[in-house]
Amino acid sequence: MKRYDFDLIVIGAGSGGVRASRFAGLNHGKRVAIVENRRTGGTCVMRGCVPKKLLVYGSNFSHDIDDSKGYGWSIERATHSWSDLIDAKNRELARLERIYHKLLADAGVREFNGTGKLADQHTVEVNGQTITSEHILIATGGTPSIPDIPGMKESITSDDALDLNELPERIVIVGGGYIAVEFSGIFNNLGVSVHKIVRADQILRGFDHTIRATLEQEMKNQGIQIHSKKTVRKVKKLENGYSIKIGSNDILQADKIMCATGRIPNTSDIGLKENGVELDEKGAITVNKYSMTKVENIFAIGDATNRVTLTPVALEEAMSVVDTLYGPKRRAVSYENIPSAVFSSPPIGTVGLTEEHALRKHDIDIFLSRFQPMKYSLSRRNENSLVKLIVDKATDRVLGAHMMGLDAPEIIQGIAIAIKSGATKAQFDSTLGIHPTSAEEFVTMRNPSS
Ligand code: NDP
Repeated sequence: MKRYDFDLIVIGAGSGGVRASRFAGLNHGKRVAIVENRRTGGTCVMRGCVPKKLLVYGSNFSHDIDDSKGYGWSIERATHSWSDLIDAKNRELARLERIYHKLLADAGVREFNGTGKLADQHTVEVNGQTITSEHILIATGGTPSIPDIPGMKESITSDDALDLNELPERIVIVGGGYIAVEFSGIFNNLGVSVHKIVRADQILRGFDHTIRATLEQEMKNQGIQIHSKKTVRKVKKLENGYSIKIGSNDILQADKIMCATGRIPNTSDIGLKENGVELDEKGAITVNKYSMTKVENIFAIGDATNRVTLTPVALEEAMSVVDTLYGPKRRAVSYENIPSAVFSSPPIGTVGLTEEHALRKHDIDIFLSRFQPMKYSLSRRNENSLVKLIVDKATDRVLGAHMMGLDAPEIIQGIAIAIKSGATKAQFDSTLGIHPTSAEEFVTMRNPSS
């Protein structure tokens, strides 16, 4: 008789939870259960990266249709149906969810629907049923947070924005981070009048300053109205839409207000603190470098730990927990040189140190190129690209690569391999370009910018 019902219970069937349970089941023959109270696939697949990127693709056609005219196409009158896009997106999500169920079943993982709560160190309650396990992995993700501002509860979050019944004519988006920037592009490309309220002096805190400033300018060029150094004071519901008071006296009116002011870990009311799992002041689960909580058989990964809240990081944390528990030796995740992208319009890709971060420890050279992508030469689209390399003068190592413009996320994924491998500027220079591309700019910049 086994001591517990399972070897591993995972609470949360998002990217991290599904990855850990599949590999524990398939590669290590463990008896695994996974508990989920919403849709299998979690935030990234059902309410985040995937549906968002589909809407980004959908909205970008508005520019592509304009561009096509410069290439000889004539399109009489292009129209767009928001509800058709949402229906198509929902069909795709349903298809992906079926795939996730199958992947779990093929790995022998048993799914439980409901909210999983820790009853003790080895027991999880779900829908009145108790299941026990040697190890437990908390992968409950996060949820949008709405600041405590009068009337702000009227606002929609990214969860709602992905499923609006109809496109508003005017929207106010609060926040200057990933989500606010990405949805500003989606709505603006689809013809919605977008006002964006940013409490900082610029969008995208933490990104390289040149990229921040250049994207902000491009967004303004595309018609997005950015109100910097402003916060929302009050939201009032009107008969038709909302009145939003910003700063001391300005009033905006909109059909929708969207709040994208960050996310908080899903860690309350699931028996964590009561059973010795420590949370920090933001509610994130405290873990060591092997993702182990203060309770040695309980691990936590992904947004619930609020380390680097990106899907590929959660996947890597999942793999490290599986290796640590069942592999030949325990393994920690490296958080250095994590590439990331913002699917703004135009998009951003970035890896390594920003100029500001690099300057704290290094004497650096900056290589910068601004150019118009060839695709826009005939279409005359008023949109430029920017690439930037940060190079350590002492070692010639490339410390950071940043790009804004067409295909930036796709290009930076490749550059990230070079940077992770410790490539020098001389090695970038000795790499031949692929002509004509935007990516070749990364290997053709010779003179540091002053
Ligand atoms: P972010 O943390 O990226 O941005 C939050 C924004 O809200 C910041 O501009 C912040 O301002 C502002 N803010 C916070 N509190 C307030 C407040 N009380 N009043 C006004 N403004 C406020 O969060 P997001 O919600 O955009 O995204 C959450 C996370 O999800 C991201 O950090 C990212 O890790 C992940 N994500 C990744 C994506 C990708 O990889 N492409 C896409 C979407 C999300 P300030 O800068 O001043 O702090």
